[in-house]
Amino acid sequence: MTARILVVDDIPANVRLLEVRLLAEYFEVLTANNGLDAIETCENGKVDVVLLDVMMPDMDGFEVCKRLKSDPATSHIPVVMITALDQVSDRVRGLEAGADDFLTKPVNDLQLMTRVKSLVRLKSLTDELRLRASTTRNIGIEELLSRDFATEDAKPRVLLIDERKSSVERIQKMLRNSAELDIATDPNAGFFQAAETAYECVLISTAFSDFDALRLCSQLRSLDRTRFLPIMLLADEGEEGRILRGLELGINDYLIRPIDQHELTARLRTQVRRKRYNDQLRASVAQTIEMAVIDGLTGLHNRRYLDSHLQTLFDRAVARRRPLSVMITDLDRFKSINDTHGHDGGDDVLREFARRLRKNVRGIDLACRFGGEEFVVVMPDTDGAVAEKVAERIRAEIAQAPFAIGNDGKMIEVTVSVGVSSVLKGTDSVAALMKRADLALYEAKSAGRNRVVAKAA
Ligand code: GH3
Ligand code: MG
Ligand code: MG
Repeated sequence: MTARILVVDDIPANVRLLEVRLLAEYFEVLTANNGLDAIETCENGKVDVVLLDVMMPDMDGFEVCKRLKSDPATSHIPVVMITALDQVSDRVRGLEAGADDFLTKPVNDLQLMTRVKSLVRLKSLTDELRLRASTTRNIGIEELLSRDFATEDAKPRVLLIDERKSSVERIQKMLRNSAELDIATDPNAGFFQAAETAYECVLISTAFSDFDALRLCSQLRSLDRTRFLPIMLLADEGEEGRILRGLELGINDYLIRPIDQHELTARLRTQVRRKRYNDQLRASVAQTIEMAVIDGLTGLHNRRYLDSHLQTLFDRAVARRRPLSVMITDLDRFKSINDTHGHDGGDDVLREFARRLRKNVRGIDLACRFGGEEFVVVMPDTDGAVAEKVAERIRAEIAQAPFAIGNDGKMIEVTVSVGVSSVLKGTDSVAALMKRADLALYEAKSAGRNRVVAKAA
């Protein structure tokens, strides 16, 4: 895993110390010895993780972190605060400032590497999603980034899996105002509950008398529905080894008992904020992908989708010796509809045509807007004779009732010509199949329009 780590500390020896250790693990290292330089480096360069000293003259680490987290251009970069003292108040201040994690000086080597690696992993997931979302659609991303989920959104739904009654009661009290908390006292029941409910974080105690909490963590990580569910481990003093194994398994964070309420709520908030952010990105990527294969005007699939699926449907039909037919439809004299009723009137006709087309084909048929006023329907398991009947039904459906355009109840007559072709036994190809349908359509046009021509197999 290669990543670029920015080390920020006003004391050169401290910078050097971390730099050497990171370089030994093949990380790329950038350095800054004050807050302003650090911010500038984050704005300009590709930084994957920031290791940020708290105690610096001029601008301290809390302030630097706050600024990084409030700027949409840098808010997604994970920040690890490095505090001199193992002070809960410092940690809490850091987390309030938006830090993703913290380490205390002197920095423990194993902890440094594990934390940095787990944040780099998370960052690369976020980067991937950001890239995918922004290459096809730029809008929405910046707005998404600047949104403050922590303050404006509803209380997160959280599951606590813990069998110790006293510990459960303590945590219930601590989270009374900041989460909708469900409890599972049995780890197996907790696993199913986590998989079946839309939680935003799960807290898992390590203190089961007869069960390894890490097993639960790894089960949750391997299940699709819970792969992105943040997991926080509630561990006891002296369980560092177990925590490190947990981090390798993909847990997101941990707390050591006795648990401090501020630290718990701040860390929970960080996890929930990150999950909501990534969920939104993922949804926006899914939406982008959908937009790429759907025609905006009619809601039918577009040509790109047809191009990528027709070959598959064709191959499957040939392999199974099943028939397959396609039809190409083209509205008659559509140019004159546009000329007479305007482009918007033409669009109304296209929408209504698509609606009638969809109504007259089966669910397994693939109806696409091929471009302009041409549409293609691919019909699996359908021979030429049946396809011709379907085409005739569609032609009649268009011709028999006028189309409403505009808002003033204007009705116009629309007709369509259709060419039909079917897969031939022996040698055939997608290109030849489409070509025959196109020729059939051309014949329908020259024969007077408002008709179906089929190239029989
Ligand atoms: P034919 O009966 O021979 O098919 O005549 P036609 O006028 O339909 O054929 P032609 O292909 O010359 O014209 C198609 C017209 O469709 C031209 C173009 O401006 C219009 N068109 C293409 N896409 C759209 C669209 O999205 N909306 C609207 N309103 N018109 C479109
Ligand atoms: Mg045309
Ligand atoms: Mg036309």
